[in-house]
Amino acid sequence: MTDLYSRRNFLWTAGAAAGAVMLKGCAINPPSPADLSPKAQALSLNPSQIPETTTVKLGYIAIVESAPLIIAQEKGFFARHGMTNVQVSKQASWGAARDNIEIGSDGGGIDGGQWQMPMPHLISEGLITKGNRKIPMVTLAQLCTHGNGIAISNKHIGKGFGLDLAKSGAADYIRDLKKAGTPFKAAYTFPRVNQDFWIRYWLSAGGVNPDQDLDLLAVPASQTVANMRTGTMDGFSTGDPWPYRIVRDKIGFLAVLNAQVWKDHPEEYFAMREDWMRKHPRATKAVLKAIMEAQQWCDDPKNRDEMVRILAQRKYFNVPTTFLRAPYDGKYAMGDQFQEISDSSIATKYWKDSTGSVSYPYKSHDLWFLTESVRWGFLPQAFLGEADRVINNVNGEQFWKEAAQELGVASADIPKNSSRGVEKFFDGAEFDPTKPKAYLDSLRIKNIKA
Ligand code: CA
Repeated sequence: MTDLYSRRNFLWTAGAAAGAVMLKGCAINPPSPADLSPKAQALSLNPSQIPETTTVKLGYIAIVESAPLIIAQEKGFFARHGMTNVQVSKQASWGAARDNIEIGSDGGGIDGGQWQMPMPHLISEGLITKGNRKIPMVTLAQLCTHGNGIAISNKHIGKGFGLDLAKSGAADYIRDLKKAGTPFKAAYTFPRVNQDFWIRYWLSAGGVNPDQDLDLLAVPASQTVANMRTGTMDGFSTGDPWPYRIVRDKIGFLAVLNAQVWKDHPEEYFAMREDWMRKHPRATKAVLKAIMEAQQWCDDPKNRDEMVRILAQRKYFNVPTTFLRAPYDGKYAMGDQFQEISDSSIATKYWKDSTGSVSYPYKSHDLWFLTESVRWGFLPQAFLGEADRVINNVNGEQFWKEAAQELGVASADIPKNSSRGVEKFFDGAEFDPTKPKAYLDSLRIKNIKA
């Protein structure tokens, strides 16, 4: 029995011999293979891996992070693992995704899907749910790295917006706008998660205090872009195809890619409700294996044209294929001179990056997101003392390892450590996951709250 089983106090797999799934001490009978659809039965699945259900509903947001979910559906990877009735459901917004996981598929919502971080932790702790209800969730895989950037409205051309705001003078320019009573306004799509962290990190590394020197706010993507077009919004922190699209539509320019700020950074994750996993441990692993297969498929250069054609469809991203193709080669027009860069190492990756695994859900990355939440006062300082407990409840690395083994992933591609080690940022800052407080102490601009 692994630590995870005992920690969660439930059996992940009861084993073929037991013939039952133990659920908090109660035995329930899993469906026999005869209950599965003929299509699922036709699959040559190991009997111990036949899922308890063929049905699950997963949410996604139409940005590149969701590709593994869409590809697992479109290329038949879910079905191959016996999940023949997966609904991959486009979410209108991150708030809608949160609302839908709260009600679950029984209530017309979703059982899991794509999340910015640390949404699974905040939902599990009841910090962003209605009535502060705790809905335990488990992160099962990181979906991708890179593919995110910060777009600036064309009205700020010539002001030095780039990677280093201090050196270029753009930091002074932002502060001057505030003094003049016309503060720079920048948007992200949901507060206190990835895109909020990305713009805050970049601004503060350049000496701009994101809580004092400008207005940062949550605005839906389409509204942000419309407002950038009219000049009433100045910046947007978001994922492809939005940054690339803003440049192609001549609305603005890309100041920075997050790949430049933090190479091989953690991005969005696949996570599910723990109660659904408890009821369907084998189905959970089937879903996870299909997503891992899709991640491998997405990273194969020979599949990228087909992937772009699939994602661009009206029912998914609904964009011209050209908005997606170039970023997948690491091609962007950067800065207010629209300088072409072409660097495949900064392209969106789903399975492997220069550090090794993209898909593996490292606990050290969970800790960075929670530490950064403390940095900006989104969580109280005392939360750092709670971080290990929360991470151990939410992180599903053990499930990832089991799924990888069943899938036949080479052992060299299965990380041995829960930590990826010390993380390095473009400005010289370092995050040592064994010393989160030292990281916070090293940062000049922060808003830590007791
Ligand atoms: Ca993102």
